[in-house]
Amino acid sequence: MKPLKIYKFGGASIQDAPSMARIRGIIASALNQFQLVVVVSALGKTTNALEKVVLAWHQNQSEELQQALEFVAQTHRELICELDISDRAKEQVRRSFDIRFAQLEVLLTSPPHSNYNLNYDQVVSFGELFSTTIFCEYLVLSGLQARFQDVREWIITEEPFREARIVWEETEKVLQPFVQHPNSLGPLTITQGFIGSVRGTELTSTLGREGSDYTGAILASVLNAKSLTIWKDVAGVMNADPRLFPNAIKFDVLSYREAIEMTYYGATVIHPKTIKPLENKGIPLEVNSFLRPDLIGTIVSADAISIHHTPCYIVVKNQILLSISSKDFSFIAEPGLSAIFQAISEVGLRVRLMQNSAISFSVVLDNDAFKIPGLLQSLKEKFRVKFNENVELWTIRHYTPEVIQSTTEGKTILMEQRNRETAQFVMETK
Ligand code: ADP
Ligand code: ASP
Ligand code: MG
Repeated sequence: MKPLKIYKFGGASIQDAPSMARIRGIIASALNQFQLVVVVSALGKTTNALEKVVLAWHQNQSEELQQALEFVAQTHRELICELDISDRAKEQVRRSFDIRFAQLEVLLTSPPHSNYNLNYDQVVSFGELFSTTIFCEYLVLSGLQARFQDVREWIITEEPFREARIVWEETEKVLQPFVQHPNSLGPLTITQGFIGSVRGTELTSTLGREGSDYTGAILASVLNAKSLTIWKDVAGVMNADPRLFPNAIKFDVLSYREAIEMTYYGATVIHPKTIKPLENKGIPLEVNSFLRPDLIGTIVSADAISIHHTPCYIVVKNQILLSISSKDFSFIAEPGLSAIFQAISEVGLRVRLMQNSAISFSVVLDNDAFKIPGLLQSLKEKFRVKFNENVELWTIRHYTPEVIQSTTEGKTILMEQRNRETAQFVMETK
């Protein structure tokens, strides 16, 4: 029996017909050695396009809805036309896609539920269902023995919608037969990232934006896979986002701990929830380049004792710095802090950095256009609130005085914090 590996391909790696052919090649060569479960995201920017669909549906804007829907259909149909298979085979892929697409159309003819987040998950999940329907059919028609799996039968979740929590015991129970008899999976399974089902219902849930990496980790953990490989458009995990730092260097190995720290502070190369399930079972994570599958990327594992002291830079843009003080300029004591955290938690934002002084409490949050106005309104009922928009949060791990000097030179620092390993700066965006 061949060892089982989990592969995950994200939106960047699967966006057009040539990229599907490329992934096909990566899968085909791995099948000589491994049994594979392949987790696939929505094509390119489809999730963003489906967010427009759900908004228009929810707001009853039929013209916008038609337009947004047409865009989604069009991008998928164009991709099918470009596939490197015969016209008859393309016709077959198109028919399978049309059946899926009709399911979305049926949903959208019914009145939306009053819970926007519930609607969101039912609609946006179609991105992954479309991509995997097309991709699996394409693989079969080009000669690979692939099996389509609806991941909602496997990954059982509970509330909240849009950020669903995994019900591990049930997920493990469902997958138990495959753990006992791995052969029953077959050589190649194609399934969706990012989505699951709500325990005891017919409803679909999603695990949070960019959550397909996490799906890969859940399946690797529950199926006791040999490893999880996530295929990215970069050489591996680097000491900074190469889009912002062209001279970024790649790590060959990284400890779970370092990877968790980097993703916690906002390194978007791996979804932050990915590492923990792997660490718990000691399953290595490989981050490889789908553009250069012949090269070794980064291996994240327990073996990689974190001895490297290469400074890592993590830049999170579009932040807001709130400075909150009491209306009578008294200290903000614990009840006040508790009210502030309650308000932040209710709108579903995460505190990225915080600092307390004698008369004010400062927090850094994502400047989310949907959430911040409501938060400001509720905070202003009890507190005086000042804010700086257009700021970014820089985190430097393994900093040195020189690195800090060159990073902050000529910039306006609004807030800073340091511990032994990590320095953080809130700075105005230039
Ligand atoms: P996916 O196709 O799986 O959705 P993403 O686009 O989410 O992939 O993640 C890959 C991107 O992450 C890269 O294009 C890169 O710009 C960005 N990135 C951010 N931080 C890092 C880092 N430390 N190392 C490598 N890439 C990074
Ligand atoms: N398609 C989803 C998103 O764009 C999940 C993912 O790509 O990981 O957020
Ligand atoms: Mg992504």
